[in-house]
Amino acid sequence: MKNQRVHILTSWWCTNDCIFCMDDKKLRNFISIEKVTKNLKEWLKYSNEVTFTSWEPTIHPKIVEMIEIAKDLWYKTIQIISNGRKYKDVNFLLSLINAWVTDFIISIHWYNSSLHDTIVRKKWVFNDVLKWMVNISKLKKDYNLVFNTNTTIIKQNYKEIYKIIYFLEKFPIDSIVLNVVIPQEEAYKNKNDILVKYSNMALEFKKLLLFQEKYNNIYINWFPFCLWDELSTMIWFREPVSFEQNWQNFARHSDNHSLDLNEKIELSMINWKTKSDECTKCKYFSDCEGIWDSYINLFWWDEFLPVK
Ligand code: SF4
Repeated sequence: MKNQRVHILTSWWCTNDCIFCMDDKKLRNFISIEKVTKNLKEWLKYSNEVTFTSWEPTIHPKIVEMIEIAKDLWYKTIQIISNGRKYKDVNFLLSLINAWVTDFIISIHWYNSSLHDTIVRKKWVFNDVLKWMVNISKLKKDYNLVFNTNTTIIKQNYKEIYKIIYFLEKFPIDSIVLNVVIPQEEAYKNKNDILVKYSNMALEFKKLLLFQEKYNNIYINWFPFCLWDELSTMIWFREPVSFEQNWQNFARHSDNHSLDLNEKIELSMINWKTKSDECTKCKYFSDCEGIWDSYINLFWWDEFLPVK
């Protein structure tokens, strides 16, 4: 069990307003420090790795305190997933590092302001992006930080995704993670504007092979193997960290902190994925998590043929 990673969902609030957001915008709240302490103590029996996430953990007024609690409980890996905007302030960044954040995962969706800021639907965000990229790059070596990025693939960026990879590979990034959209909440409302069929994305992802040969640090989350048989080294059904899918999934979508752990696992996102009868003939059947129900409801199964 110790190779899993637990998630603390910190803030139902965000300073961006991404066009593909998959979270429920009706909620607006912060988790209490008491709840974090209780969860961290209780979940140590499952893992000594913790991720602070959802929606934007850096705006939680007690984020530093939470990280210190995790450190005092001897969590070995303390990760934070963020839009990165507050990391333009190097003193804030250092306060997290000194509290003991070991891994940073930060969102970046394009390599210039015009499209990036359109995607996150806030002005001047890309200015912040450039600042945090520089700040983290400078601190990475001295503090032995893990530095990963998250990019969501949508209609607006998928045809030139190699351009953002080209931009990112100039920085000391450990893993460049590409995410497909889960068609729910805001992403579902904007589905006609943002969704790309997996088969169309696959054509563009194939152009990344040369980068992958050179850097070996690109990961595609939640992508089925049947569109990628020869390129499966880039596919991850989880982030490139050591937790198992149930943990990632329950953490992502069990926003109700009053639920206990077992109920959360029951609610896991893995239940929201599906496989077809044809999938049983696929050699990847046991490794593949399947496709989001909500995607299949929109596009059906025609793209996904079993690999024999
Ligand atoms: S199990 Fe189904 S969805 Fe998964 S790779 Fe095979 S055919 Fe594709």
